[in-house]
Amino acid sequence: MPVPHPPLVNLIVRQGLPREERLTLSYRHELGHVQTLPLALLHVIVLWWLWTRNGVSARWPRAVRLLVAFVAHEATWELMAEGYVALRTGRRYIQLHRQKGSPLISAFVWGSFAVMASLGLVPALGRHLGGSFLPTPHGKEHT
Ligand SMILES: [Zn+2]
Repeated sequence: MPVPHPPLVNLIVRQGLPREERLTLSYRHELGHVQTLPLALLHVIVLWWLWTRNGVSARWPRAVRLLVAFVAHEATWELMAEGYVALRTGRRYIQLHRQKGSPLISAFVWGSFAVMASLGLVPALGRHLGGSFLPTPHGKEHT
């Protein structure tokens, strides 16, 4: 589900990089979204399958499900697009961000995206992880 959004990744993570490098990486990031579109669609299908299989639809209100799925999907797609950039750029990617970028800001941004991407798996795996935090349709806790 492509959603137009401000280029936050390109603005925040590319801070301090030389203009030419910043533009190249930003271009590759946007291309990465196109290149990883099949994987992004597969992610939605797998998420839907896991949630359906684990009865998430019956336990979570529709608005919550949509919000969690949206956040998890967008974060996952950002990670995939930036993974594409890193693969295409090779060692230069790490060198640039270490030497001229803001490694702490990058780590915070990508760590945040990883946490948000993981949100999609919590409802699907909750039952297998003990699931006591997931309410049943009758309001009782799983045991
Ligand atoms: Zn992006």
